[in-house]
Amino acid sequence: MANKRFMGKIHTDPWESLAKGPREVMASLWEGYLAETLGVSKKSRRFKVLRQEIEKAAGFGKIFQDWHTLSPEARAAAWRRLISAARERLQATQESCVRCGECCELGSPTLLTPDLALFQKEVLSFDEVYTLRAGEQVTDREGKVTTLKEERLKMREVLGSRQCWFYLAAGQTCRIYDDRPEQCRRQNCWGLPAPPPAVAQLLNRRDLFGDVPEVWELINAHEERCACALVAQALTDLGAGQEEAGDALFEALHFDHYLRQLLLDDWSLTPAATELLLGRPLTEFLKTHGLAATLTPEGVFRLERRE
Ligand code: SF4
Ligand code: SF4
Repeated sequence: MANKRFMGKIHTDPWESLAKGPREVMASLWEGYLAETLGVSKKSRRFKVLRQEIEKAAGFGKIFQDWHTLSPEARAAAWRRLISAARERLQATQESCVRCGECCELGSPTLLTPDLALFQKEVLSFDEVYTLRAGEQVTDREGKVTTLKEERLKMREVLGSRQCWFYLAAGQTCRIYDDRPEQCRRQNCWGLPAPPPAVAQLLNRRDLFGDVPEVWELINAHEERCACALVAQALTDLGAGQEEAGDALFEALHFDHYLRQLLLDDWSLTPAATELLLGRPLTEFLKTHGLAATLTPEGVFRLERRE
């Protein structure tokens, strides 16, 4: 493997550079050839995975090591070996995932309607998915912040990161690859980005709980009092000096908090599962609006501007 990069410019015909130049020139030409042939950025994990596999198959390390002792004919033969290893690998994986894990580290998938089957097969549990409600602010993989117009269900991320819950970074593997969600299957880092899913394709809480009246009524009761749009409106009204809007805001905060507590105590749900049923706590929503809501020992909320 090249441990010294050629940083100069290759002025002459590449074939002449290969026949007469040092191994760093060969390594530089090889990297350029690979990037062009594989059609992905040299910085991408996909490129690195494919490069490693191709170089292993073609014996690149040995070629690089021996380069200065090879005759022009032997160099040409070695170069052909590299090229054919690249072509073979490309034919096998041209438009398929090589499981490099780069997209899994950048975010977890939003679930689509075909993913309902993953709950039925028990690939996914209620602890591994949470709800982003309409009106919540989200940051996409490119760092763009948007406000959701409709709710969506999302796989959990590893705490403190954007990495998908099912991704094992140490081995760069997915724990459920054969049963991975639809959005993971639609990833095509080798081509143009897949178009965003249509609204009708988004899985939502009605798909999961619409047929379970006890749960569905509870979700609706929570939305009636704690919808993000209602809370956002109360914040706007408060900002405009309408102090009575504070009542609606505090009522929503308390209802949200004590309903979650009831689900933990009486329904024995986990905190994670409450975030699927009710979305993330309103205290989190308020954070995205620059407010910190703290529960006092008396059991009431206090609101402060966040630093
Ligand atoms: S789809 Fe994701 S995991 Fe598969 S090769 Fe592309 S970036 Fe890597
Ligand atoms: S489910 Fe698997 S493939 Fe999909 S983002 Fe998570 S780790 Fe990657």
